[in-house]
Amino acid sequence: MNGLVPSEGTPLLIGGKLVPGSAGVFATVNPATEEVLGHAANASAADLDAAIAAARTAFDETDWSRNHAFRANCLRQLRDAMRAHVEELREITIAEVGAPVMLTSGPQLEGPIGDLSFAADLAETYAWETDLGTAVQMGITSRRVVRREAVGVVGAITPWNFPHQINLAKIGPALAAGNTVVLKPAPDTPWCAAVLGTLIVEHTDIPAGVINIVTSDDHQLGAQLVADPRVDMITFTGSTQTGRAVMAGASATLKRTFLELGGKSAAIVLDDADIVGAVSYTAFSVAVHAGQGCALTTRLLVPRASYDAAVEAAAKALANLRAGDPTKPGTICGPVISERQRDRVERYLDIAREEGGRIVVGGGRPGDKERGFFIEPTLIADLPNTATVAQEEIFGPVLVIIAHDGDDDAIRQANESPYGLSGSVWGADPDRVERVVAGVRTGTLSVNGGLWYHADAPFGGYKHSGIGREMGVAGFEEYLETKLVATPA
Ligand code: NAD
Repeated sequence: MNGLVPSEGTPLLIGGKLVPGSAGVFATVNPATEEVLGHAANASAADLDAAIAAARTAFDETDWSRNHAFRANCLRQLRDAMRAHVEELREITIAEVGAPVMLTSGPQLEGPIGDLSFAADLAETYAWETDLGTAVQMGITSRRVVRREAVGVVGAITPWNFPHQINLAKIGPALAAGNTVVLKPAPDTPWCAAVLGTLIVEHTDIPAGVINIVTSDDHQLGAQLVADPRVDMITFTGSTQTGRAVMAGASATLKRTFLELGGKSAAIVLDDADIVGAVSYTAFSVAVHAGQGCALTTRLLVPRASYDAAVEAAAKALANLRAGDPTKPGTICGPVISERQRDRVERYLDIAREEGGRIVVGGGRPGDKERGFFIEPTLIADLPNTATVAQEEIFGPVLVIIAHDGDDDAIRQANESPYGLSGSVWGADPDRVERVVAGVRTGTLSVNGGLWYHADAPFGGYKHSGIGREMGVAGFEEYLETKLVATPA
């Protein structure tokens, strides 16, 4: 279908070579049509073993980790190769991820390609050494220098919802920092990762073994990567449940673990806000990419006195956003990724009904589509913040609207969650807004519609939403060790 995808399926990248998988191939499916798009190499445990060995050798036996300018150049080559093939990548992204075409000019494709510049620039400009000056200890005067060095071999495990964004937000900084990488993408979106292998081999000077890409339909390969003693660090994005397994699996080898996990973020609307504007914006945002975004504000906390008006505004916004064909320029809500994911969303809608929730709009599959894993944008009202659908991550286009009794109660309810990834605050009085910003325990916050997503902006979670930060200088430093060297002065 596409110049980047061979008819026999996409290959693995191991030790600088594009190779077939020892476990054969597995299918990748278009979630908007349910058609099999084609196949991807299915890696075996032995293939992953070879990929880890290649990454270890490349780290231990080349000067990759010390040649900062070379790494910057390699990352720019990858960025430029992706740009040169952006239309083929767009086609794959829409077909395999079900991503609305509109999003591919932003965070689903072109945004993260551009963000490689930030990582490349950091490889060149980062202060790799800091001189602490001299100090006297037990009569000896020493000059102390802090050096930052790559951690080593990084295992990167990624989900399917924003595959380019997440793959590149890991590969870019990890390589820029001087590490070597084994990338294991989600089984649902193998092509988005595998085509990087082809572009790397054909268009960059990245040395053999520096990056290895291992597609598989077996989640166990993730666990194998986590457990392997040759891997120094795991960078993981996915569900909180899997994140726990990753942390436990990494404990035997005391690996550094960097975790970007789930969310159930709250949008807080204060009583002096433009309530209809804030509610409409929030409802719209929850339908973007069928709600498959970890940082979406899927709990909407509105003043009790305005509850009915807010429900009406949210319902109006969501009713206008029909789930549709992701290839159409006007679509913002495409399909969810799989039948399994659609079943999961529908199960949550049943739970909402059982717990006494009112489905104001949506509530199931669109009547006009016989194929594709679509769910209508849905609004659930009349449930407390303690309800299952307000506490658990649904990962579908589902908004729960909840009443609050003033600023303190809104902060309390926003924090009454195991998660702490993101959120928003809407209000006119800067002092009240600031109190809410200070009170909410999350890694990112939007005030009155401000956008926090950018290459230089650290992103990540408090509480069960993760450990560490992706992107920004903080995201780069996750991939660095600290070595202090003291010399008599
Ligand atoms: P998932 O946790 O099911 O899978 C993520 C990855 O982990 C996949 O590559 C999978 O093969 C692998 N995996 C599965 N079991 C494993 C194990 N035992 N050990 C190691 N690896 C294993 O997540 P998903 O369904 O692919 O993605 C959706 C989830 O990702 C949501 O919870 C969402 O909130 C989260 N997410 C978080 C962020 C963030 O930055 N915080 C961003 C995007 C998605």
